[in-house]
Amino acid sequence: MAPPPANRWARFALALEEAAPGQPLCVSLCNTRHWRNSAAPREVLTGYDKVVDWAVATAICTPAEGEQLAGEATAHPHVAAAEWRRTLALREAIAAVLAAHARHRAVPADAQAEVDTAFREAMAHLALRVANRRLVPSVPDGREGLEAPRWQAALSAVALLVSPALARVRECADDRGCGWLFVDTTRNGSRRFCFGNECANRARQARYRARHRRGAPDHRPPRPDAVDEPPCGDREHRGQQREQRHQQADQRRRGVARQRVERHGDTPAGEQHVVARAEENQRGQRPRGQAPRGDRGAHRAVPGDREPSRFTMPAARDGARAGCPCARPAARVA
Ligand SMILES: [Zn+2]
Repeated sequence: MAPPPANRWARFALALEEAAPGQPLCVSLCNTRHWRNSAAPREVLTGYDKVVDWAVATAICTPAEGEQLAGEATAHPHVAAAEWRRTLALREAIAAVLAAHARHRAVPADAQAEVDTAFREAMAHLALRVANRRLVPSVPDGREGLEAPRWQAALSAVALLVSPALARVRECADDRGCGWLFVDTTRNGSRRFCFGNECANRARQARYRARHRRGAPDHRPPRPDAVDEPPCGDREHRGQQREQRHQQADQRRRGVARQRVERHGDTPAGEQHVVARAEENQRGQRPRGQAPRGDRGAHRAVPGDREPSRFTMPAARDGARAGCPCARPAARVA
């Protein structure tokens, strides 16, 4: 993460978690417009009363202060309507600036001007006051007006813009046009989707459906030792192939144990245990229907655990059968 450019005026504290995890106040304001990049966005802030609700929900003001703001808005509806429009304009400007950073594009000039105006307005109305023997910035008469939520959002936006967290601002990768912004707080910076798992789950399901769409090839490569079903449909031949698969699974298990010893320095006893289990399985001592660990799903039948089929021909067990066109020699087991 690149350090912020040296600027002695950029001394703001950014609270990444002030609205929600990974959601500073300004990002929370941007996300009050749902499906921003779609053809049908949904507006949450449909009036100044909703701005007050958002301010109380994000702890910009207390519920009592929120009631005062709502009362003031009711008393001066035209002023409240004008402030509501300015809040929406600032929100869109902040969203445009942050989205430009997330997409590594140039910041739009009009959005920059809008944020700049709100920031300067907020700073012009703040003064240092003593509270609990500390100097804190506050409005001069201690009584916040209808502009308070907008000014708070402007200060939060500037704090984010001058912080290292700006490099972690992301836009949800949802292809329906979610458009929510967030600050990626993961360790490796790999987060792609917004909050609540909805967009991430949908993308996961879409990938799953694309893989399993009828006619689409399986995304996984075939197992190298996979044995095709005989086209002849011969039951005895199929039994041979099942045994062959079983032997290959045991071979594979021995190989994995050997690799584990080489890579992790596992105890030889561990390998012996695995090999002993494979041999026990070979003798048919494993309960019927229980596949050995690591090979579940590969086969179900256990050789030696069943009566010979009445279709079994002893002469055909040792190798290729002359009569079957798809016959192949049995694999050799080391
Ligand atoms: Zn999303």
